Amino acid sequence: MIIKAKKSLGQNFLIDKNIIKKIVEVGNILSNSSVLEIGAGTGNLTEYILEKKPKKLYIIEKDEKLAVKLKERFDKKINLINKDVLEVSENLISSDKLIVYGNLPYNISTQILAKWITNDHKSNWYENYILMFQKEVADRILAHTNSKNYGRLSILSNWKLDVKKIFNIKASCFAPKPKVESTLLKFTPKKKYFELKNSKNLEIVTRVFFNQRRKKIKNPLNQLFKKSDKIIEKLKLNIDLRPQNLSPKTYYELAKEYEILRN
Ligand code: SAH
Repeated sequence: MIIKAKKSLGQNFLIDKNIIKKIVEVGNILSNSSVLEIGAGTGNLTEYILEKKPKKLYIIEKDEKLAVKLKERFDKKINLINKDVLEVSENLISSDKLIVYGNLPYNISTQILAKWITNDHKSNWYENYILMFQKEVADRILAHTNSKNYGRLSILSNWKLDVKKIFNIKASCFAPKPKVESTLLKFTPKKKYFELKNSKNLEIVTRVFFNQRRKKIKNPLNQLFKKSDKIIEKLKLNIDLRPQNLSPKTYYELAKEYEILRN
């Protein structure tokens, strides 16, 4: 059976068995693990995840035709959710902590990561996320202060998550072949992270700063805070710096100040 890939759903299926096996290994699936795979497609990863015999495997697949095929092929071995992952309440999927795999369309990977980080659940619903990104986006997630790729994505990801680069994956491992190289990242929840009442405030602060990447930080500070001098003094900020020179921690502190101010 030939399945025509839908461009609109970013369907690039993994075909390299070696790579697929390596990806599955990253999650360390045990017999008592519960796993969530998003965008299972034709089941290339699913097959190998099931070989690990997890306690449960949940699947989210938006494409109805593919969902039907997955159900036919794996039947009772999977718990299928035929929905857009962006519309699923991730914390309600299971009461077990989930090992999450996703080889999703690149733009969805970024959106879902941001959604998961900024949804303030009381406790973690996952053990790890193992997600595929366009290499260029992965580089931005991994970037450190003072580098050109450093920005909102790195600050947001490093707030609650430890991020590890697993490996790059060549375009030829997929069919149809994407235009760019990919990178697999593994995210693990941090035991302790900077407390904020509402993660939206971190999004707002970083957006205002990085919309003016090249300007000195006095500009965004004035935009966010009426009494910016007080903030500058309190956080001992050097106003000659630019957004990319501030550490993630400084952004978390700025978000906190912004939060206090708005309450
Ligand atoms: N994981 C499979 C398929 C990758 S292609 C493999 O590696 O071979 C990406 C898959 O994500 C497709 O099956 C596509 O239908 C699905 N998808 C795209 N957008 C989605 C969304 N918003 N929610 C859930 N699944 C989505």
